[in-house]
Amino acid sequence: MSKDHHAVPNADGSPIVQLEPIAHPGCPICTAADRHRWEARRDGRTMAVADANRIIHDHPHRSAA
Ligand SMILES: [Zn+2]
Repeated sequence: MSKDHHAVPNADGSPIVQLEPIAHPGCPICTAADRHRWEARRDGRTMAVADANRIIHDHPHRSAA
């Protein structure tokens, strides 16, 4: 069990896709949603996890500051 999971591709050879949106660093909205998502996952509240994902996903950021 020493394989690096980050380097293992999917069974069909396609690259691993980030299933959940990533909170934008420094954004209070994304940061709050990310924390909410973490707590929801810890507590097993899948609906709340999905809700937090939607908040982050629907909060777009420009690539350039
Ligand atoms: Zn944001």
